[in-house]
Amino acid sequence: MRRFLSGKYASLVPYVPGEQPRNIQNLIKLNTNESPFAPPESVARAAARAAERLNLYCDTEARALCEAYAELLGISPDELLPTNGSDEILYYAFLAYGDDTRPMAFPDITYGFYKVFADIARVPMRVIPLDSDFGIDYNDYMNIGANAVIANPNAPTGIAIPAQDIESILRANPDYMVIVDEAYADFGGESCVKLIRKYDNLLVTHTFSKSRSLAGARLGFGIGCKPRIDELKAVKNSINPYNVNSLTQAAGIAAIESNDYFMQKIAELNTIRDDCARELRAMGFTVLPSSTNFLFFGNGALAGDVLYSELRARGILVRHFQAPRITPFVRMSIGTRAQMEFVITNIRDILTRREGT
Ligand SMILES: *Cc1c(COP(=O)(O)O)cnc(C)c1O
Repeated sequence: MRRFLSGKYASLVPYVPGEQPRNIQNLIKLNTNESPFAPPESVARAAARAAERLNLYCDTEARALCEAYAELLGISPDELLPTNGSDEILYYAFLAYGDDTRPMAFPDITYGFYKVFADIARVPMRVIPLDSDFGIDYNDYMNIGANAVIANPNAPTGIAIPAQDIESILRANPDYMVIVDEAYADFGGESCVKLIRKYDNLLVTHTFSKSRSLAGARLGFGIGCKPRIDELKAVKNSINPYNVNSLTQAAGIAAIESNDYFMQKIAELNTIRDDCARELRAMGFTVLPSSTNFLFFGNGALAGDVLYSELRARGILVRHFQAPRITPFVRMSIGTRAQMEFVITNIRDILTRREGT
């Protein structure tokens, strides 16, 4: 099969993204933590205006975008590196900071892409188990002799740890990088962006895919002190200098200008999430405490893959991971109020029918 593929990729196991069905008309899609809300119209208008100049290459530095996001975060534009989704900056970080003597350490239960990045970047990895409550114990990351990659809040658990705990990890590993993936921080976690000038071994990553309704545009950021960003820029400019296309740069700026809109939607989703968690607990589910736009929940009496299939049969798409410790759980993104009411009704019905049999 792989007749021409280099032997160095013979054992590559690619990341498996959540299903993106072609026909989502009769489907409630709650499997990849997208926002159920479209971005404001100003975003599409900005992208359409940028489309008039598609004959020209985009700004490799995305300067206007960096200025806008730096202002929002209260940092300097040269402390930012925009990328094609945050997956791209995470990959660059594995390339830039990992090698045989500098492994990448991350939890056993976390974003599945880290393992794949370690694999393709040929970097050894060290897997550090979550504690028995599925939390990250910062004590497990003291003097580990490795770079650490911490999703905060973590996925798919949804659990956040305080910035103070990350600070302890930064201080305990001053000669190694600590990469904090803040894909969901807008929904409740405490951001570590405020620490980038205090710790030169910190890289924070952000994405516009979740809280800012731009999953399809592919926009992420690396955030760190200028020397770290300069190193990562050198990697980026050696692979893909035009990594963020001009439509996405324009859409990103317009999204930043609509920050209030997104903050309002985040607050709305958080309320729906907490209501939904309460209903699930009342039905007997274990629901991990979420600081994100998804819930990770399960019920000892109902296997996670069964719940997944039952929901799928009713047009509701969630995510189930066939991985040690978490098979009883499913991960469900938070949709609109109406969608979640439909989901809760269906879950109640699934439980009732199973009790009846
Ligand atoms: C969604 C997600 C990302 C990456 O998202 P992009 O769309 O590539 O920006 C990174 N980390 C975690 C934990 C995520 O859930």
